[in-house]
Amino acid sequence: MTDIESDQKHRIVPKRCVTGATGFVAGQLTDRLLALGATVRGTVRDLDSADARSLRQLSRGDERLELVEADLLQRGSFDNAVAGCETVFHVASPFAFTATDPAKELLAPAVDGTLNVLEACRSAPEVKRVILTSSIAALVGRPDGRLLTEDNWNTFSSLTNNPYYYAKTQAEHAAWRFMKEARPHFDLVVINPGQVLGPSHRESVGTSVAYVRDLMTGKIPAVIDLDVPYIDVRDVADAHILASQTRRAQGRYLAVAGVVTTRQLIEAIKRLGYIDYQFPKMSLDSPIGMPVARIAIRAQPPGLRHYLRAFVGRRVVIDNSKIRNDLGIEFRPLDDTIRDTVEDLIAKDQVPTGTVTIN
Ligand code: NDP
Repeated sequence: MTDIESDQKHRIVPKRCVTGATGFVAGQLTDRLLALGATVRGTVRDLDSADARSLRQLSRGDERLELVEADLLQRGSFDNAVAGCETVFHVASPFAFTATDPAKELLAPAVDGTLNVLEACRSAPEVKRVILTSSIAALVGRPDGRLLTEDNWNTFSSLTNNPYYYAKTQAEHAAWRFMKEARPHFDLVVINPGQVLGPSHRESVGTSVAYVRDLMTGKIPAVIDLDVPYIDVRDVADAHILASQTRRAQGRYLAVAGVVTTRQLIEAIKRLGYIDYQFPKMSLDSPIGMPVARIAIRAQPPGLRHYLRAFVGRRVVIDNSKIRNDLGIEFRPLDDTIRDTVEDLIAKDQVPTGTVTIN
């Protein structure tokens, strides 16, 4: 019996707070918490947004989902949101490679937002554990083929070189620093997911799933030598829940099910029967194609360009034993993740129905 089920049985139903509940990851987490019988207070920036409406549909009017407004950039904004909650899942943070003003758009909400949430928890005696959604970005800014574990920190990215990766790294550093200096009454567990794929509760398509859509709709003209350290969004949600329930969970957890090259990702999509799509026509993932790929990367907007420059042609090698051993998580097979991602994109008219061969 899980903690949540036992809470239900004894009718103690402690609240969980999920920040940025409209997001791709947080929406899935909210859905799974509700399915387990928990009471959830989700924070959103705008209660009237389309994403907030989709989120409300998840609970089908169930009173166990309460939505409140909070903004990462406003001090004190989360004070009411976390009050009375036993677990706070801090998931909200902008996810975009490109920004006009990276300090304002990426770094401030990531770092100040994390500190705002942690400060709010300090004033809430009921909070026992905070689960922070960090990223593989906080582990590595430029892979060098060596095994990646929770001991790695990204020391490569900066505000002018892949600011999203930098912001996630700084946010996680800030969280651990806060724990050391403030010595609050709660503990902190961090989840560091890789590229999150899978179905979404909302209409808009997030940055990570957009890669699959773009590979199928002619937006990406060439296959490049880019590793995809993937994880299913449902597994990310489960990892958060397991981290909240497992007493001995501690530190960071690299949450990556496996790594495929972009070519392997395309082959897997085709193998599942999604053949009649506009896949990249050119192959630039060979040693001969690499110089051309590097020239093409130069034309990309900053942020994305920095990311591609650091990752293309380099292998990402991961050790996911800590999360499997400590949290007992079993990752979904890649084919399930891809099939459900593509079916969701088709259902949302993000990719055409095409001719699907059922295997
Ligand atoms: P989404 O863009 O779908 O969700 C981001 C959420 O953050 C949204 O709910 C958004 O709210 C909220 N947010 C952004 N800025 C603010 C702000 N100033 N105040 C309050 N809320 C804000 O991204 P994902 O679900 O993909 O990502 C969620 C988390 O997971 C992030 O921390 C991200 O870094 C991390 N992550 C994601 C990965 C992925 O591949 N998707 C991989 C690794 C980590 P609103 O709806 O109002 O815009």
